[in-house]
Amino acid sequence: MGNGLLTVSYIAAAILFILSLGGLSRQDTARRGNLYGAMGMALAVGATLLSGQVGHLGWLVPAILVGAGVGWMLAVRVEMTQMPELVAILHSFVGLAATLVGYASTLDTQGHFEGAELSVHRTEIFVGIFIGALTFTGSLVAFGKLRGSISGKALTLPGRHLLNGGVILISIYLGSLFIGADGPVAPLLPLVIMTALALFIGFHLVMAIGGADMPVVVSMLNSYSGWAAAATGFMLSNDLLIVTGALVGSSGAILSYIMCRAMNRSFISVILGGFGNVTSSASTASGPAGEVVAVNAEETAQMLADSQSVIIVPGYGMAVAQAQGVISEITQRLRTRGVSVRFAIHPVAGRLPGHMNVLLAEAKVPYDIVLEMDEINQDFPDTDVVLVVGANDIVNPSAQEDPGSPIAGMPVLEVWKAKTVVVFKRSMATGYSGVENPLFHKENARMLFGDAKKSVDTILSHLPS
Ligand code: NDP
Repeated sequence: MGNGLLTVSYIAAAILFILSLGGLSRQDTARRGNLYGAMGMALAVGATLLSGQVGHLGWLVPAILVGAGVGWMLAVRVEMTQMPELVAILHSFVGLAATLVGYASTLDTQGHFEGAELSVHRTEIFVGIFIGALTFTGSLVAFGKLRGSISGKALTLPGRHLLNGGVILISIYLGSLFIGADGPVAPLLPLVIMTALALFIGFHLVMAIGGADMPVVVSMLNSYSGWAAAATGFMLSNDLLIVTGALVGSSGAILSYIMCRAMNRSFISVILGGFGNVTSSASTASGPAGEVVAVNAEETAQMLADSQSVIIVPGYGMAVAQAQGVISEITQRLRTRGVSVRFAIHPVAGRLPGHMNVLLAEAKVPYDIVLEMDEINQDFPDTDVVLVVGANDIVNPSAQEDPGSPIAGMPVLEVWKAKTVVVFKRSMATGYSGVENPLFHKENARMLFGDAKKSVDTILSHLPS
């Protein structure tokens, strides 16, 4: 394939990626956006393979086929609740790839860079490996935390900010040694030491982040993986990789900003970490005050039938229980009876940005009754019944009432202002952030214990049509 055709293919792929991002920003166009992305990637890989600039096709093509097969199997098998872990582990692959490409570029004896060009090339390699290695271990820790194999609590080593700052300063010094070193072997020592430091800092940065801040970390690692890909594009002088990396990097950064705003946190305070362990005030340290009143599914069905306005707040537990289909049926039945039913979506509900929207769309809940937190939070005082289905942190009043709480200041759905709140969960356990929830002890709160799917099944069977 000639250079002209290659450039045209790359431009077409870049346009498809931009259309893909545009499509993914809305539920009703997301499927199309996904298709554009897949088409762009197929075009990019195909054009690169046919460009004549890639050798060893006998190795490369089988490797791509195996990779594609594994990816296909994972995508088909993954449960919606495991999606965040999958995303985190995929970010780690991008980081690892950037690190390996950096080493390959350093060891490549066919490169003909000299003088300023060599310095620029070495800078690209150094920065690419630094971001790549940090993304690799950071994403592995995020994977472990999302999976529950690593504790969600923030690890706060004494003097950790000094430690992080020191590592960055030493890395800059190692960078100057690497750029100035002569010959093929001398640059390797500073590079290997810096890689070890970057691997450590990725691990340490994410270990220091407490449960409730994890959404920002996932989107931040998404952004880092994009910048690592862009750095790889510079190392390989591949324009499409630079553009694609920059698209992922900047969209991840915008998402991190949106998440920070949703949680009322500054980006810097999240990055510096350590917020999961703030000591709570006396009220939560000794457990929330007030009794817990249980309710059963039949009584809840009656409450719903007698109400005029209902708001449903879905959370991670709805995804675990796979209760969205039956909830959609309950919604339909109540709407047929003239009851106003709406859904309130918190920006960090579930374990993935947009997690609840995807589940509700899958269950065919109409988009126009699914509202964002800011659109619906003021309506709770005029609501008869709120169903909190497997949500916990996002409806925790201690974010507003307890300044010592680890989630203090995080905007939450003010469900306790409704006439009655029914909370669906299996036990009195805390949510992802590990913070006690005084909502369960409020006078107007009722606990519907048990698996959310079983509870909604029973409600549906007792709901008059
Ligand atoms: P939470 O994790 O706070 O609470 C989920 C609740 O669901 C639990 O209290 C659990 O209680 C209940 N539950 C679990 N399984 C079932 C079941 N089968 N039936 C009924 N209930 C069930 O979830 P939220 O959605 O309220 O909040 C999201 C949390 O996750 C926030 O802390 C957020 O910061 C964090 N997070 C969000 C990410 C995102 O991008 N959205 C990414 C990473 C973290 P019990 O065990 O008693 O049943």
